[in-house]
Amino acid sequence: MYSPDSGGEVHSRPRLAVSSCLLGQAVRYDGRHKRHNWLVDTLGRCVDFEPLCPEVSIGLGIPREPVQLTGDPRHPCVRAVSHPDRDVTADLQAEGHAVATTLGGVAGYVFKSRSPSCGLFHVGVLTESGRIVHSGQGVYARVIQKACPCLPLEEESRLDDAALRENFVNRLYTYQRWLSLCAAGLSAQRLLDFHARHKYLLMAHSPEDCRRLGRLLSRLRDADLFVLAREYLAGLMAGLMQESATTRHVNVLQHIVGHLKQGIAASDKAELLAVLEAYRHREIPLAVPVMCLRRHVHCCPDEYIGRQWYLWPYPDELELRDHL
Ligand code: SF4
Repeated sequence: MYSPDSGGEVHSRPRLAVSSCLLGQAVRYDGRHKRHNWLVDTLGRCVDFEPLCPEVSIGLGIPREPVQLTGDPRHPCVRAVSHPDRDVTADLQAEGHAVATTLGGVAGYVFKSRSPSCGLFHVGVLTESGRIVHSGQGVYARVIQKACPCLPLEEESRLDDAALRENFVNRLYTYQRWLSLCAAGLSAQRLLDFHARHKYLLMAHSPEDCRRLGRLLSRLRDADLFVLAREYLAGLMAGLMQESATTRHVNVLQHIVGHLKQGIAASDKAELLAVLEAYRHREIPLAVPVMCLRRHVHCCPDEYIGRQWYLWPYPDELELRDHL
């Protein structure tokens, strides 16, 4: 987790909240688990897990009768499948509110998909007409999302998609750096430096948000620092959620090459541009041009580019850019 060219900085180890069943804990209604191998075996080498099972926490026991979402898909209830009069909605909501107050030092949350408690997207809801509509959200997950709107959230089935997986891990480590910034003491100068170091990372997802947040920070002198910082964080996390297309990465890589051009020999520049073209045509993964740029910054240090988190956003051992 050492980033040799980012001034010897180490990625600090995020705490990640996870639905307990995804970590191999046998807490499901049927006494089984739903271990997610990548989460446990790969990401688990770089993060500390905080296992959470709301259904066990509210005392439903293991094993237990399964529950399901029922009623209005926009505001469903959670009821026992074979005893619909047993409604645990309020208990799960209360659990969500209680847990949300403990997530201050957590940098992300991975939920079990399709769960009436934990699912984030497209959870099945049994409507009054007896149809199943896949537009619900787990009752507990909904409370967490509302209470922690900037916290990176994802559900496990989406982590099987290389681009969504990378997007989540990118947000997780960015949020962890934000927590470190707050722990060190927020100041106007530190906030400006934080933005400067995340400029290319954000630009790869949303050039518009990058410009907008730059304008926002230009008001720092006249604004309440903490109010503005909250607005900044919300904009940053929303921007990073946007899909990062190849063309956007190419744009960022070209900006970096353009910034470095004074210190690059003509032959090195030609090689960098050739690598960039190969990436543009998807002949090589994003990891290759990024490694070339790192090598260059290592040989010819450039303080501004060398401190860009775009070049080392998370531990290399996750190998996420090998699949982009
Ligand atoms: S999906 Fe959520 S409530 Fe269900 S077993 Fe997993 S952690 Fe517990």
